[in-house]
Amino acid sequence: MFGSRNSRGKSVTCIACGDSVSRSDAREYDKHGDRWDRQDKEFEHLCKACFADLCQQPRDGLETTLDAAGAGEADRETFLERFRELSESDAHGD
Ligand SMILES: [Zn+2]
Repeated sequence: MFGSRNSRGKSVTCIACGDSVSRSDAREYDKHGDRWDRQDKEFEHLCKACFADLCQQPRDGLETTLDAAGAGEADRETFLERFRELSESDAHGD
């Protein structure tokens, strides 16, 4: 058995780490929250690792952070930079 075959060969880019992952392995993230309306929309994608990471944050915080970082709007480097800053200032552990 092949584990996960990439049936359409389509890959997406994780908005958090910039890795290319096959679409079937990615988690769709729609910062607008209305997943139903798929027309003319680009979805953000997160790889499993980042998705798990991000989901440790409260959902509200995540959306705010992603939005503030410019997910889907800023270019990747800018987004990552902002996201890292926001995450660090936002989510302090001990
Ligand atoms: Zn990632």
